[in-house]
Amino acid sequence: MSVGKIIVILGAPGSGKGTQAKRLQEKFSVPQISTGDILRAIAKEGFSLLAEQIRETQAAGKLVSDEILIQVVSERTQKEDCKKGFILDGYPRTLGQAQQLEGLALSQEREIKVVNVDILDSLLLKRLTGRRSCPSCGEIYNIYFKPPKSNNICDHCSEFLIHRSDDNLESINKRLQEYRKNTEPLIDYYKKHQCLSSIDGTQSPDEVFELLCQIFQ
Ligand code: ADP
Ligand code: AMP
Repeated sequence: MSVGKIIVILGAPGSGKGTQAKRLQEKFSVPQISTGDILRAIAKEGFSLLAEQIRETQAAGKLVSDEILIQVVSERTQKEDCKKGFILDGYPRTLGQAQQLEGLALSQEREIKVVNVDILDSLLLKRLTGRRSCPSCGEIYNIYFKPPKSNNICDHCSEFLIHRSDDNLESINKRLQEYRKNTEPLIDYYKKHQCLSSIDGTQSPDEVFELLCQIFQ
């Protein structure tokens, strides 16, 4: 991966963005920045108005405001570990965020490269309801497709796995609606900017990773 690039992974909730971003992070030694993870961490911090606002918005499956996201991303990407570039997982999700990201890229003198992970809706439900993750190392499992060796225990750190509270039917439906309305239009937006590649996310994690490596090598 050329030094200094901003990699954006676009895709519906459950398309495999986090799974692949973690693998790319290891391969290319650039950090994965998951806005969902950062927002969950802020929400867990305590009883501030911001934490409360994020908790409610995430639980309802709605999008957190562009103003909050832009602040979160510009702060995070100024950290030392982003010097060689970074991978955005779950950002941008709106046209406003995409435009702000362009401003950020310009100010940081970086090129944006976007990959869209294409997936059939019919696969998303099992991926999302079956998702479990380790609160310690962040490893992502799935009770149907990638179960841990021991029931509900992380293979690496023996922690109990977490079932995200927004991975329930009601929130999933809302998140998919938000995706269709606000995020899917970014595919055309990035096509016009000629920085988009698309890959088939219905294949196995190894096959999807192989395709991503070909794009980013
Ligand atoms: P996203 O970050 O796009 O919401 P995740 O990477 O968290 O998606 O993946 C959602 C769920 O689907 C997880 O349980 C993960 O283990 C599973 N998963 C990811 N990629 C694949 C794949 N290619 N095939 C089957 N299951 C997958
Ligand atoms: P994720 O972990 O990417 O599935 O995101 C979980 C939730 O965090 C989303 O449903 C939103 O409520 C919020 N979120 C994450 N990223 C963004 C973003 N870029 N813009 C708005 N809300 C976001």
